[in-house]
Amino acid sequence: ADEILKVRDLKTRFFTEEGQVNAVEGVSFDVRDGEVYGIVGESGSGKSVTALSLIDLIESPGRVTGGEVWYRNAELADEFREKIPEGVDGDFVDIRRLPKGVRRSLRGPSFSMIFQDPMSSFNPSLTVGEQIAEAVEVQRRARANPRRTRSRTQGYGLGSLIVDSLLPSRDYVNDESMDRAVELLEQVGIPDPAERADEYPHQFSGGMLQRAMIAQALAGEPDVLVADEPTTALDVTIQAQILNLLRDLQDQEGMTVVMITHDLGVIARMCDRVGVMYAGEVVERGTLEDVFENPVHPYTQGLLGSIPDLVDPAPRLQPIEGNVPSLIDSEMDDRCYFADRCPKAMEDCLTRIPEMDTDGTEHRVRCVLANQEYDESQALENGHFTAEE
Ligand code: SF4
Ligand code: MG
Repeated sequence: ADEILKVRDLKTRFFTEEGQVNAVEGVSFDVRDGEVYGIVGESGSGKSVTALSLIDLIESPGRVTGGEVWYRNAELADEFREKIPEGVDGDFVDIRRLPKGVRRSLRGPSFSMIFQDPMSSFNPSLTVGEQIAEAVEVQRRARANPRRTRSRTQGYGLGSLIVDSLLPSRDYVNDESMDRAVELLEQVGIPDPAERADEYPHQFSGGMLQRAMIAQALAGEPDVLVADEPTTALDVTIQAQILNLLRDLQDQEGMTVVMITHDLGVIARMCDRVGVMYAGEVVERGTLEDVFENPVHPYTQGLLGSIPDLVDPAPRLQPIEGNVPSLIDSEMDDRCYFADRCPKAMEDCLTRIPEMDTDGTEHRVRCVLANQEYDESQALENGHFTAEE
């Protein structure tokens, strides 16, 4: 399949009192039409920030400061080919170069996002049906009158990614949008959807609310659904059901999914290709088989521990001793960010940041060992854990 997203050297900074935090430090990857692309890493690795950066949801004091997010959309490419020539390449537009209003209008019909905590995606004082109906109606009006339509779901309706609350009433909810909301609830496997639509978020179980959030995210018929730890808060049985639902939606609707998770089991079960993040960088990426069965980066090897086995029902991240390095700019050296924890660290690793090796295949690794054999005699004494414990 063709690429739908091409992320190049994405950089996101947070400007805090302690200093500039380089949360995303030059991330590149491609997502293909109709695939499930996984981004995996420990907490603090920059995976959620990467997801938010993709769809322009970084808030102050954070800012995307560099890189490109190429999105395939022939209509937009035609619209901006002359106005912003450097932001158009064939059928692709660089989202970062589009005017703010246009970027915003992509939320819903182009990109939608679901989160770990569905409660925070819903307004507790409106029924679930009303909120999904509103998302449907906002999207319909946005199509009719792009870049004008506002929703009042700000702060709640992140599932539909529509912001700027202006309308005070239930104006957006009509019979047609409510019918569609019920359809969506049915599509995500909610029994008695017409009755459930009239209930409030607190009347839903966690799993049901997660389904409702997915329904809300589907209201705009997005090209790409970004799912950030969508099942982390759920118990195992419900997790499996939600993952199956996402997989079915991807199969049946041809939706592209970017799955952000710390859970290797989720990656193994869902994803076609995967990028492993560490300290704001993608350190290894490739097909599921490349990364799980033939991991090259010592960090990936460490994560997979003794169970790089795709049939293992629930491989989990293995704890790796040591801490994720500080991402404060002034404290980041020109060396492999994993060196303090790496059992294979050599002199070479302490003097430069390894490039993402491009060996002509899809399997890419940001490590000096990508193109040289590991030689134990080169390893630093106490190569890992040089940091004070
Ligand atoms: Fe380990 Fe060196 Fe590779 Fe970094 S570059 S992961 S320190 S071997
Ligand atoms: Mg996160």
